[in-house]
Amino acid sequence: MSMFEDIPVDVGIIYEGERIRGSDMRIELGGPREEYKFELVQARGMDEIEDGKVIIIGQDISDFPERTNTPFGLIIEVAGKEVEKDLEGVVERRLHEYCNYIEGFMHLNQRYDIQMRISKKSFDKGFTSFKHMGEVLKRLFKSELSFIEKIQLTFITEPDLVKEWYSKALEIYEARDAKARGMSDDDVDVFYGCSLCQSFAPTHLCVITPQRYANCGAISWFDGKATAKVDPKGPVFEIPKGEVIDAKTGEYVGVNKVIQEKSLGEIERVQLYTTFGYPHTSCGCFEGCAFFIPEVDGFGVVHRNFKGQTVNGLNFVTISDLTAGGRQVDGFHGLSIEYMRSLKFLDADGGWGRVVWMPQDIKERIQDFLPPEIVPTIATESDVADLHQLKSWLMEKNHPIVERWSEEPGFAPTEIGEITVPTLEMPASAFPIQGIPSGMGFTIILKNAKIKAEKMIIKADKRR
Ligand code: SF4
Repeated sequence: MSMFEDIPVDVGIIYEGERIRGSDMRIELGGPREEYKFELVQARGMDEIEDGKVIIIGQDISDFPERTNTPFGLIIEVAGKEVEKDLEGVVERRLHEYCNYIEGFMHLNQRYDIQMRISKKSFDKGFTSFKHMGEVLKRLFKSELSFIEKIQLTFITEPDLVKEWYSKALEIYEARDAKARGMSDDDVDVFYGCSLCQSFAPTHLCVITPQRYANCGAISWFDGKATAKVDPKGPVFEIPKGEVIDAKTGEYVGVNKVIQEKSLGEIERVQLYTTFGYPHTSCGCFEGCAFFIPEVDGFGVVHRNFKGQTVNGLNFVTISDLTAGGRQVDGFHGLSIEYMRSLKFLDADGGWGRVVWMPQDIKERIQDFLPPEIVPTIATESDVADLHQLKSWLMEKNHPIVERWSEEPGFAPTEIGEITVPTLEMPASAFPIQGIPSGMGFTIILKNAKIKAEKMIIKADKRR
């Protein structure tokens, strides 16, 4: 008999990766329309919680009208002889996996950024209460992570309480992140790998080091260490660094060996501190993304919550699609906010001296960790609207990139010419986009496409 016999929907690994579109959803918990949302795991003493208790504060799933989104908080308290604070981050990250085992349930992102959807179909089958979700999570956590002896779950949809806990959760995440700051990758012989996202991106492996936090921003080197110890067969494991191949780019014999094994030979080398050559792969859960802007020979950095267009006219979703999928894409690099605070941040590419644009709110959040002289030279959406304005800004502010332009023989920031084409039609295979299978008769039609090119070559048509 299945351990989920009494749950109105099926539960199993086959549902991982299921996508629920807006038109198919019954309710969205958190998500981009809600400012306040979080998921948080807390380690407690054995006497502090009641095993198996599910608490609902605010409206339950069935109380909401169809296709509503709501502020949402989920607090999971765990206890056990082996449970310690350093395990909180990893237990919390397993929520992504376990929620996605539920038929008709989609969980995206992490921490303060969660987006969960329940499908109409599963709601109609009877999955109408957080009690069901609590039951599933409770059983999965206790059966998969044997060090959890007691678990108590609190679901919150009451807006004021979600907001109050959201602030507390941010402080707790910050305290976790701060722990590894000050440590260097050179101080340790072992890094940690996480393969949790291979169900979505089979060739992806996060390499978690003291100075390169996991892409999702949810697992630090300390979290990896604690988890590998208590759950040695789990998705987080030790990677002995081995010999250094290149300290500047962050390439290690041990890391290459593991990535080759875990990607089944697809990825052969990884260099941890660069976006070019053999960059760290990106699954899709990254908190932010660095993207190369060839017109100025610099980088932009954008994060998931930025709703507008970046300085090169692309939004986060488009940049994310170009980056994700467990690939190594030159000039595109999925990363965590915490990695932006690291001294190894894009070190091989010039670090912060090469970053020219980022959203205002993220700049404010991390500016204390940037070289002080760079801060006023990095433009945001409040300063420039496009690449023309960006170039002027960089020269006016004397951004270090300007010196680089003169030092690089042959490089001059290109004049940005642009033409607008009313309709541009091409086979899907000519322009690979995630989710659209190639060679299956799909056509991509771009309306009012803006075409930019560094060079235009005009050739006589000899057929005439
Ligand atoms: S983004 Fe990386 S560290 Fe985070 S869950 Fe996925 S594989 Fe693990």
